[in-house]
Amino acid sequence: MVAVIFMNFCSLIPTLNPVPRQIDLQSFLSYIMPVLPVFSVTGVVQALFTKRAVNLLAVKSKVRLFRTAGLALVASSVLMVVLVCIGVSLFFTASVPATAVFAVPFAGTTISYFTWMLTAKSFFSIKAPTSQSLPTSRTAGQARYCPHCGAKNLPDAVFCTRCDKKL
Ligand SMILES: [Zn+2]
Repeated sequence: MVAVIFMNFCSLIPTLNPVPRQIDLQSFLSYIMPVLPVFSVTGVVQALFTKRAVNLLAVKSKVRLFRTAGLALVASSVLMVVLVCIGVSLFFTASVPATAVFAVPFAGTTISYFTWMLTAKSFFSIKAPTSQSLPTSRTAGQARYCPHCGAKNLPDAVFCTRCDKKL
């Protein structure tokens, strides 16, 4: 993946691109072609672990969108494997250009960005803990400011939490 990005970066800046590498690009791509399905499978494994994590988050935070995001992540990674396998087999049988096959991982990355956006949206839907869980004395009344250091303390505080002096 890094190599692919690097290659594209090199082709964008032709002056920085060494001449022998430009000639070898096509053969280099065909050389690393069989590695692509392996990489895409590791993507599925990663997605499955992430799904377990977000499912746990869905249970803890009661945000069901996490579950959807996890499923979308796994689905997109499986789709990626299928597309990569089709692309690689087409490359070897029907001599599809290598650059076309390498477009697949980029498309897959774009899809996974959307699923991560879904995950981010889930994080924003987490509701902050309500004041019910806090003792009433903590929420009622004005905060006490320390006369020594100016730190904000709870209304019923006797000693400052920052400097430990008597309020
Ligand atoms: Zn203080």
